[in-house]
Amino acid sequence: MSRWLNDILCKDSLAKDDLVQLLSVNEGIETEAVLEHASRVRNTFTGKKIYVRGLIEFSNICKKNCLYCGVRGSNPFAERYELSKAQIIELAGAASVAGYTSLVLQSGERNDNAFARKVEEVVAKIKQASVGKTGITLSCGEQSEETYKRWFDAGAHRYLLRVESSGTRLYNKIHPSDGKHDHQVRINALESLKKIGYQVGTGVMIGLPFQKVEDMADDLVFMKSVEADMVGMGPYIEHYHTPLYPFTPLLKSPEERLRLSLLMIAVLRVYMKNINIASSTALDALDPNGRMKAVFAGANILMPNLTPADCREKYDIYKDKPVLREAEELIAKATGTFKKNGLELCMEEWGDSPAYKSRVHLPEANIRNNSALK
Ligand code: SAH
Ligand code: SF4
Repeated sequence: MSRWLNDILCKDSLAKDDLVQLLSVNEGIETEAVLEHASRVRNTFTGKKIYVRGLIEFSNICKKNCLYCGVRGSNPFAERYELSKAQIIELAGAASVAGYTSLVLQSGERNDNAFARKVEEVVAKIKQASVGKTGITLSCGEQSEETYKRWFDAGAHRYLLRVESSGTRLYNKIHPSDGKHDHQVRINALESLKKIGYQVGTGVMIGLPFQKVEDMADDLVFMKSVEADMVGMGPYIEHYHTPLYPFTPLLKSPEERLRLSLLMIAVLRVYMKNINIASSTALDALDPNGRMKAVFAGANILMPNLTPADCREKYDIYKDKPVLREAEELIAKATGTFKKNGLELCMEEWGDSPAYKSRVHLPEANIRNNSALK
């Protein structure tokens, strides 16, 4: 590895200029060196276990209109679906039988009472049915502090809310200015979640039109400044029926977006050593092994998709969303590949974020007991 690159990677703390330099390395040897270094950092700081979360996309009904997203409320071509309470609880039960101890429940954004109540009841039922064994992460967009609190009290203990872009300039380019997409409101929501006691995850899309390497470095600085416990980020992938689609000619090639996404994960790992970093599903849309590659770039969370196949197709946030690789296939493949590389796929532990533990000064032993978080 070149001396200058090694020197930056081994610094105690990285300044924004360092992040820009790391995000600007050439493809090939330099990129590989950063990814390999990040993988070693992960092994040292969060360990060699790669934790699993079963992803259930329970509804694509959304009142928002993010300009990049295929299930935005005003896309007339999106076929809407919503799993019933009983269906979600049944899926969670089947997941538990299959060995999952962590689930992510994700949906489009709705703010009506019926939705808040449904999520609350589903969370409580899943906790009850699993005798507290199933750890629940929610990702249902911006909600009032009261709703977040109700869901937390029902038993959810992690929440994912990507800021999408940390800079207001870029955020406003990829969201409509209709009063429903306010950057500051989203940032405030992250603070509410933290105040309530959630382990908080955020993230961004990589390779967006108009996005510069400085914006990506700012995104990493933002993640550190909000003390994210977890991060999920992945490539932006265009979708025909979105207002951002006409900007497709501005995009980098899929290969380059994949490389940048892996590099961003790796640089984040070097920058925030003890957080949980998820390998996002969108990576598989660019490369059938995209999610596995992210693990070898420093990610430590894998999220097999447990949404029933007919609904998964309709949760169509970007084009070529991979529907092929089934959860069991991913688990089997990952188990073998990780073993060969000294890693272990771990389903039976929650694998909560070590960064969270140190943020709230929780002793190691308490973290797996959800009641200790309240
Ligand atoms: N509605 C919730 C959660 C579900 S959407 C929310 O928005 O927070 C989950 C994520 O999908 C979003 O955070 C966004 O980052 C990602 N997403 C949406 N459209 C995308 C696209 N075209 N390419 C890549 N990721 C996309
Ligand atoms: Fe809705 Fe989330 Fe898509 Fe925005 S990104 S339109 S909030 S599902």
